Amino acid sequence: MKTIGLIGGMSWESTVTYYQLLNRMAREALGGLHSAQLIMWSFDFADIEELQASGDWAGATDRMVAAARSVERGGADCLIICTNTMHKMAEAVQDAVAIPLIHIADATAAAIKATAVTSPLLLATRYTMEQDFYKGRLAAGHGIDVRIPDEAGRTIVHDIIYDELCQGAVLPGSKEKYREVVGRAQAAGADGVIFGCTEVGLLVSQSDFEIPTFDTTTLHARAAMDFALAD
Ligand code: GLU
Repeated sequence: MKTIGLIGGMSWESTVTYYQLLNRMAREALGGLHSAQLIMWSFDFADIEELQASGDWAGATDRMVAAARSVERGGADCLIICTNTMHKMAEAVQDAVAIPLIHIADATAAAIKATAVTSPLLLATRYTMEQDFYKGRLAAGHGIDVRIPDEAGRTIVHDIIYDELCQGAVLPGSKEKYREVVGRAQAAGADGVIFGCTEVGLLVSQSDFEIPTFDTTTLHARAAMDFALAD
């Protein structure tokens, strides 16, 4: 089994999910006492959030590149960034290391393309929903017509991620708000839902919606474990 390098802590609430998924996947594949071989860098998310909110993406990229190099030096065979938002600097991170970066949007696109879904709604941070680095990759690289919530919906989705989910608060009222946002998009033609933030799966699941959902955390962990187990 190859060693998976993780850049996590963004937030640690979802990095826990990655850790659990990867270990369970290794056990399912190999049985017995097998677990995943991992090296992790875990940020203090308050530092990262400050850089994001102030628009210091250059500073954030420096931190990500340094983390990636540490993980590579530690012996990882591949790299995963355990957040959708910080794939904004995926190219710079990949350029800084020799090991392959397994991109969360590519893992997600492969799952969407295996279904009949063509116009999924993206639930994510404001950065991921409004900037082009993620939607653009799904559209240009994979021909997927990604939709985003209206302005009011984007505010609700973004605020719940930072004010609640990244701080360990999973509230039933917020689940209802996400269901309303998805219901409006579905009425307007969205035919799937991308959980495009690694904490979204802590709040909602497939059973909350009538249309197919794509949980980026699970799909990304699966892609990483497939790499680790390949010959
Ligand atoms: N984990 C989240 C994501 O997947 C949000 C936190 C962050 O800004 O990295 O985008």
